[in-house]
Amino acid sequence: MKTLIITLFLAFVSVLNIFAQDMKKQAPLDQCGTMQVLELMKQQDPTLEEKLNKLEGNVQEYLKHNQGSQRDVITIPVVVHIVYKTTAQNIPDSQIHDQIRILNEDFSKTNPDAWKVPGWFAPLAANCQINFVLANRDPKKKPTNGIIRQSTTKTSFTTNDDVKFKNKGGSNCWPTDKYLNIWICNIDDASGITGYAVFPGSGYVLGDGIVVDYQAFGISPNNYPNYNLGRTATHEVGHWLNLRHIWGDDGTECTGTDFVDDTPNQGGPNTGGYAVNSIIISCGNDPYGDMWMNYMNYTWHISRYIFTIGQAERMQSIFVTDPWRASLLTSNGYVSPNRPVSGNTESVFQLNNYPNPFNPVTVIRYQIPFSSFVSLKVYDMSGKLVVTLINKMQEAGGYDVTFDGKGLASGTYFYSLETDQFSEIKKMVLVK
Ligand SMILES: [Zn+2]
Repeated sequence: MKTLIITLFLAFVSVLNIFAQDMKKQAPLDQCGTMQVLELMKQQDPTLEEKLNKLEGNVQEYLKHNQGSQRDVITIPVVVHIVYKTTAQNIPDSQIHDQIRILNEDFSKTNPDAWKVPGWFAPLAANCQINFVLANRDPKKKPTNGIIRQSTTKTSFTTNDDVKFKNKGGSNCWPTDKYLNIWICNIDDASGITGYAVFPGSGYVLGDGIVVDYQAFGISPNNYPNYNLGRTATHEVGHWLNLRHIWGDDGTECTGTDFVDDTPNQGGPNTGGYAVNSIIISCGNDPYGDMWMNYMNYTWHISRYIFTIGQAERMQSIFVTDPWRASLLTSNGYVSPNRPVSGNTESVFQLNNYPNPFNPVTVIRYQIPFSSFVSLKVYDMSGKLVVTLINKMQEAGGYDVTFDGKGLASGTYFYSLETDQFSEIKKMVLVK
């Protein structure tokens, strides 16, 4: 009997061991290495802390004066580097496309689980007005699908960033002021980390971007079951756009901050899954408790489904306050260099103004068939620039831009529209 008990016990232990190993493989902690990487970067660059504090000051100052202001949708070209050793690590295009779709849903509040946000937090849920598109144009202006596949001899990677450098077994970045670089690789299981990001303002030109474990990216039967809705990338892109962890990175204290006003103070990250409308109180944040369903938390993917208005404004502000992120606004990385134009280009592009002659206001109307960098400028008879009306990326569509000639002399003026595929100059007459 004793022998049987020991045998059973040993069998039980070995089942437990198998189970434990399996659990480790199947369910890492989904921890994020971003703050750890930040600390390392601060050690390597003693001026970084001061630079980031200065940027934070600029962000707070900007937000003070621009809260609730209307904004255009920002489109970010994305390049995905798949750095693989095994076939499983060389994830299919479909998984990448799923992830881009999920990013777009999560950042525009069109995620299918947005309805789960509890009523008391629902008024805070934000459409962040940020859109992600796989690059159609590479840095050499050649057509691309925005996906790079790079084989490696490395079994796994750590947060030391080898994955970002070809001579260290990784894949070199595309210009980080024109593309969001996403590296996918096997991150060392023992680290418990499934992703990490570089904050804006770091000046880390060759390493700016995010890294995500191949089993936490997009949707796949091979992914970790609890991290199979693409929210690791949503979280890391949040960091890349200057969001901090919702608990304020102070361990389980109540003293840290995420620099966002509308996220409740909470003591440490939430982990695991939560039933809809669960209330978890910490740091005296009753009656509604932790925002455990925030993307910047550690909950399972199924239990993450909100960015707040404060977080959205913080992310948007970085495109004004950080020149490196701002330069993404002028990237044409998602415009194909060889886009076929069907029919007569003139009939697809349009440029007119009405009324003409005018006094003192006229509306310049134009239409672009593809998203493109658009420049609309007004010149006087001598060719001197009067005003730049538009100078940014725009989606395909029709646009009306009002030009006010108040303060200008009567006479002939020219307006010029330039896009990636088309340019035209037209004449208009101001009669006072
Ligand atoms: Zn994180």
